[in-house]
Amino acid sequence: MSKIIINEARCKGCGLCTIACPQKLVTLSDTPNSMGYTVAVFTGPEKCTGCALCAEMCPDVAIMVYKGENK
Ligand code: SF4
Ligand code: SF4
Repeated sequence: MSKIIINEARCKGCGLCTIACPQKLVTLSDTPNSMGYTVAVFTGPEKCTGCALCAEMCPDVAIMVYKGENK
């Protein structure tokens, strides 16, 4: 199973990754963090293909992709 890890310290809450994910697995947090950013949240690995489109889209290099075995 593939997954992503979002580095909240780097995320500026721009939302580009939420648009990029074909599976709609990334959303923005409802509440701002200590820096005032509504950071990206990974909603779960069940449908993640490890395609890395989210990470490629991120201008702040805040997303790491871990590609696992496809089921
Ligand atoms: S790796 Fe692909 S499927 Fe997984 S969260 Fe990122 S864009 Fe979505
Ligand atoms: S594209 Fe990067 S900076 Fe923008 S919301 Fe997603 S993780 Fe955060």
